[in-house]
Amino acid sequence: MEFLDTDAKKSILYWSKRLYQRGMSPATSGNISIKTKDGIMISASGCCLNDMDENDIVLIDYDGNVKEGTKKPSSEKIMHSEIYTHRDDINAIIHCHCPMITAFAVAGVPIKKPILPDFALYWDEIPLVSYHCPSSIDLATSVGECFKQNNVALLKNHGIVLGDTSLQNAYYKLDLIRAYVEAYFGAEVLGGARAISKKDVNEIKKLYRK
Ligand code: 13P
Ligand code: ZN
Repeated sequence: MEFLDTDAKKSILYWSKRLYQRGMSPATSGNISIKTKDGIMISASGCCLNDMDENDIVLIDYDGNVKEGTKKPSSEKIMHSEIYTHRDDINAIIHCHCPMITAFAVAGVPIKKPILPDFALYWDEIPLVSYHCPSSIDLATSVGECFKQNNVALLKNHGIVLGDTSLQNAYYKLDLIRAYVEAYFGAEVLGGARAISKKDVNEIKKLYRK
């Protein structure tokens, strides 16, 4: 399901719930935004993504100033704004603390082994941004830099942030990464996560990127 720009709030509420109910944004972690013609529509700070209503969504400008809404915008607002500033093609951003994805960011295990063809189709590697305090300008700047070349960044000891053309696409990509890390972890427990070959990777890329 996708919503028009005018329905940005409905879209944020819908995909926020999906994210929480998939176990990807525990407690009050994570934040979500959409670029609109008037600015950035973003979740309020400190709310659980499952329990938000329209009052928990704020319209801000690219400096993080509130244009509409009564709540405090997400403390990661500058991180979202940096990404939109560097990337015209990104219309929606999800940041979350999905536990299994975050486990890789905590352990420093790179998410890059091509163990699944659908992962290999999109990514050679999920880039890792070194640790900065959550909500800090340093984090926002480092993520912005990373997004000059990437649509996603793993945040060391923190979580992940991903941008795409729509919230729907961003959610599906995150779900793909979640599935990847769970399969990777399970396979390691069962004896080893074995990669498909370079030839297999090239084949899937050729097939889907016509
Ligand atoms: P907010 O509740 O301020 O959006 O912060 C949550 C978070 O994930 C910080 O990194
Ligand atoms: Zn966070």
